[in-house]
Amino acid sequence: MSRIHENLDALEKRIQDACEKCGRKREEVLLIGVTKTRTADEVNEAVSWGITDVGENKVQEIMDKYDHVPGNVKWHMIGHLQTNKVKYIIDKVSLIHSVDKLKLAEEIDKRAKEHGITADVLIEVNAAGEESKFGTDIAGAKKLIEDVREKCKNVRIKGLMTIAPFTEEPEDVRVYFKELKALFDEYKDIKDDNMDFEHLSMGMSGDFEVAIEEGATMVRVGTAIFGARNYNI
Ligand SMILES: *Cc1c(COP(=O)(O)O)cnc(C)c1O
Repeated sequence: MSRIHENLDALEKRIQDACEKCGRKREEVLLIGVTKTRTADEVNEAVSWGITDVGENKVQEIMDKYDHVPGNVKWHMIGHLQTNKVKYIIDKVSLIHSVDKLKLAEEIDKRAKEHGITADVLIEVNAAGEESKFGTDIAGAKKLIEDVREKCKNVRIKGLMTIAPFTEEPEDVRVYFKELKALFDEYKDIKDDNMDFEHLSMGMSGDFEVAIEEGATMVRVGTAIFGARNYNI
């Protein structure tokens, strides 16, 4: 069996255990395989195991791999998105996790309208307020949600995303996942054409178990599937 399949088997077991530990159903948590820096062959290796959703943080990588991966795979834009690049991926991605400014939402709205679609997005919250990270704070997220609902008719807010601070000790970031879940719960019962909270995208290789315990519906995992990334290639 390939290393990627072995890693996925082990990861799947850990996800199942985390769900069991907190009394959640496995189907409530979608595993997004994060394939940045990986080749299309590696993506396909994960797809052959059963990965249905892949996450990328660069527009260029989506463009490069898109045609080499089966058409039923769902692409997630999980990284910072520049407004001038929205047009390249608007018809390729099923969910944009990284909306943190009205200007970006407006560009997504404009391009979605051109394609006659409604674009599903998450609002990226920088829960820990780290300067090195994109995302809005909690108050900014609330304002952004209201602005998007009012102004971006071809955008549908499907929930929230956060990247927790890097830590050796996953328990350290539980507080941020709790905060995001509380914000999620404030909106989850409001349903209209522009808002349908379903997804709470949080948890990566180092902290996905804690994220699942705190209510994540999507975990974004790269390293635990593909090994450490080499950015020099
Ligand atoms: C790279 C990345 C991940 C995956 O991180 P790993 O630690 O490799 O699992 C998840 N989310 C985002 C936004 C990323 O850029």
